[in-house]
Amino acid sequence: MRIDPARLIDAIADCMIENMQELTELDAAIGDADHGLNMRKGGEALRADMAAFKAASLPQALQLAGNILATTVGGAAGPLYGSLLMTMGKSIGPDPDLGEVGKALVAGVEAMERLGKVEAGQKTMLDVWKPVSRLVAREGATVQSVRALAHEAAVATIPMEARRGRASYLGERSRGHMDPGARSSELLILAVIDALEFEQ
Ligand SMILES: [Mg+2]
Repeated sequence: MRIDPARLIDAIADCMIENMQELTELDAAIGDADHGLNMRKGGEALRADMAAFKAASLPQALQLAGNILATTVGGAAGPLYGSLLMTMGKSIGPDPDLGEVGKALVAGVEAMERLGKVEAGQKTMLDVWKPVSRLVAREGATVQSVRALAHEAAVATIPMEARRGRASYLGERSRGHMDPGARSSELLILAVIDALEFEQ
């Protein structure tokens, strides 16, 4: 699989900047309305380092992007996205096949899980990353199935009661709203798939 690191990071940055409004609205409903702005800040910080990404290998680019997101995106999301990308960067080779991408994604999601002390079903971004990483790691997963699952998993957070993060303060009242981190995760997964143009 050919992955151009700069193209990949550019797609991630665009996604983080373009979806500011929607993510702000989702976080306003059950959180503190900062997720959209935080993500945009992270996207702009990635953009500011594009020269470095153009010179980087895929593992280097993922680790650098992870570092940038961990330090520039506020809230819980920054460190979680940061650990996901940094761990993926440490787990992947410069020219990975789909199997290697799946393994690196599983390792990254496990790092995120440990750092956030979060489990599936608590209405967080993990509710998207966990099933998606398992599917990508499974042999024969199609692009269509990954896209569909990312969307279904984000939608599935709507009826959940939040058990982690600021939304958990709302208890029962957190039900009926999509988790902002789950939505940004879905959007990032779709953006990365588009950028990679996986050949099946
Ligand atoms: Mg927030």
